[in-house]
Amino acid sequence: MRKTVDGDCFCGAVRFSIDLPTLFCGHCHCSMCRRNHGAPFVTWIVVARGQFRLDTPDELTRFASSDHGTRSFCRRCGSSLFCESTHHPDVVDIVLANMKGEIDRRPECHFYWDDRVDWVEVGDGLPRRGGVTGMEPLPG
Ligand SMILES: [Zn+2]
Ligand SMILES: [Zn+2]
Repeated sequence: MRKTVDGDCFCGAVRFSIDLPTLFCGHCHCSMCRRNHGAPFVTWIVVARGQFRLDTPDELTRFASSDHGTRSFCRRCGSSLFCESTHHPDVVDIVLANMKGEIDRRPECHFYWDDRVDWVEVGDGLPRRGGVTGMEPLPG
């Protein structure tokens, strides 16, 4: 039987759910995520679009963050929630911190590592990836 995990925004106006399994979980250090969330990095999960349900579409505001990407946030409280890209239309990126229950995996890596800030020390031993795609193996 499929396990469903609910999520919501800070104020609760945006509600959504996902069906496990997820496809990926990792920490993004890119400058867009940092500024969008006001944080040194953002932990994302990736879910197949067919396993994602948005219960309150009217509460979500979409923002074109690049020529292929859309970020969306609660129109009331501003919580950043989802990232979608025409480069991979079959999946939805969801901020892990907005899930209300446990998912099926732990963070697997850091990506866009070479864009990171120097005011946070990360020592978790996870693989560090970067380069143009943000996901390429880095030397060292
Ligand atoms: Zn909200
Ligand atoms: Zn990012």
